[in-house]
Amino acid sequence: MTNLASLKRLSALILSAPTPFQEFDKPLEVGLHQDGRRLTPQRRMVLDLFERIGPGMHLSAEDVHHQLLDAKTRVSLATIYRTLRLLVEMGFLHELELSEGGRRFELSSNDTPDHHHLVCIRCGRTEEFESESVLQAGRLAAENIGFLLIESTLNVRALCPKCQKSN
Ligand SMILES: [Zn+2]
Ligand SMILES: [Zn+2]
Repeated sequence: MTNLASLKRLSALILSAPTPFQEFDKPLEVGLHQDGRRLTPQRRMVLDLFERIGPGMHLSAEDVHHQLLDAKTRVSLATIYRTLRLLVEMGFLHELELSEGGRRFELSSNDTPDHHHLVCIRCGRTEEFESESVLQAGRLAAENIGFLLIESTLNVRALCPKCQKSN
């Protein structure tokens, strides 16, 4: 039964190896959304990545893919796309649509629910800002036309200082 022995040794090795993304019992998943039980290990892994880097960071699906590969986690880009979409639907992530067709994802945060973005069209650098007047403009416009307001966010396309220099 050498096969079994080596299999046991192998599984012991795998189990004792330090696995990334083990802190799954974060408060976000428990408190923010009742859907926490639908979080498969893969969804948790992606969500955990966003939690690690914290709010205010905007990642593309490719960014997420690279970061997971760096952490020695093999997940296909297609799976990442699907997972990100699901996490948006579940309310954990917020999707930011850039005009060039690119999409970025960020952690849904109660601290800054209605923030706006300044996006560099060349390098994709994304900065957040808050503006009461944007929120008010959205409220007013919705009110005047009889729409029910859900959110008012503004994405500003721009060139960051670095890209201006290399223009
Ligand atoms: Zn943001
Ligand atoms: Zn730039």
